[in-house]
Amino acid sequence: MPEIPVRYRNSHLIDENCVLHEGNFLLHEDGSWSKSNGDEDVKYNLDGSDRIITRSLQNWHTHLAMILNRGTGEDLPLNRWLEEIIFPTEKKLSSDLVELGTKASCAELIATGTTFACDMYYFPEQMAQGLIDSGIRGIAGGTITDFPTSSYPEGPNQAINELDNILRNGTNNSRVEYAVAPHAIYTCEKETLIKASELSRKHNSFLLTHASETRTEVANCYKKNDCYPIEYLDSLNFFDSNKSVLAHCGWLKKNEMRILSKNKSKAVHCPTSNMKLGVGGTMSYPAMTHAGVDVRLGTDGSASNNSIDLRQEAKLASLIQRHDHWDASILNPVELWKLSTKGSKDWVTWNLDDIRMRPLGVDKNRILANLVFSNADCLDVWVDGVELRHGGITMSLDVEKISIDLEIAVNDYYEGID
Ligand SMILES: [Zn+2]
Repeated sequence: MPEIPVRYRNSHLIDENCVLHEGNFLLHEDGSWSKSNGDEDVKYNLDGSDRIITRSLQNWHTHLAMILNRGTGEDLPLNRWLEEIIFPTEKKLSSDLVELGTKASCAELIATGTTFACDMYYFPEQMAQGLIDSGIRGIAGGTITDFPTSSYPEGPNQAINELDNILRNGTNNSRVEYAVAPHAIYTCEKETLIKASELSRKHNSFLLTHASETRTEVANCYKKNDCYPIEYLDSLNFFDSNKSVLAHCGWLKKNEMRILSKNKSKAVHCPTSNMKLGVGGTMSYPAMTHAGVDVRLGTDGSASNNSIDLRQEAKLASLIQRHDHWDASILNPVELWKLSTKGSKDWVTWNLDDIRMRPLGVDKNRILANLVFSNADCLDVWVDGVELRHGGITMSLDVEKISIDLEIAVNDYYEGID
């Protein structure tokens, strides 16, 4: 029998069904949990009376290294923000910067109770390395565009060939995998989207893209192709990979929702980014779930969000859906927590002594609402039986050194730009 990583004594645990348990708990290496008799061999035997144990948060749309761009272009709409800030800096992007930015964001994910990121960016090998070193789980999607980028200066064919190689070799790590990530229908021509989808199918990898983020994108697609973005992608057999993940999906018709549902695509709701960039609309959660679409939550990059704390995103998701649909029953705390932690195999503990968790209420029935709407400090993080964070201190990364390195790197990155 492998040694059990940890026992929490006199604690509280919320399981996958959002049922609250009280007592002594064992967290196992395979991600399962059980009640403790108090006499099992464990690596750590901890007082859990000040903690609530839950599944970890899952962030399905990130650009982790864009922490390098956080706090810039704050008053610009999407197109100007991309043209004036993001693309000029990204010309100077290097593999080292991507690895550093990814690790810095992973430190933020761990500190806020997230153990999985579905990431899209450049230099996927360094993205994967950052994820692996941090100890969390992740998908490292190499971004493909028709214009040359610093990671693929020769354009999309180079991107496809290099991604083919790294997908063949894999990451040699069970927690992190590579994916194919054509950026969007407005940055990739038809041929690129088809090749990207074929590559994903060949390696059975995830296929990540942005779709229907703005009305301009939708209108241009209709003008050019006589159909809407998801219909257009469907006409290219884009969804045949069966592992597609589409960020935003803010302007979908019912028919497009049915296409996503039929193809078991994941659609990622990113309300903060949509609101910050003033796109004027965001995903309709009730319509999407009614159509049977597998909806997930994502923060987008910290450049268009300023935070990759998925709990904040969850709160905003609930608020924008209630506001948009004039219905206060949408995404109640239980439904919201299930959505935010969907598929998690990991555990985090939150500080019950944090004033934001009070009052717990009769029968402690306010715990989940307080946790998801009021916040609380994340104390411990467990992935595959390894403790990445203990008592509010991240142990898998040298956060102090990463902060200093980030400060120095950003000075060079932005020289002559802002
Ligand atoms: Zn994005």
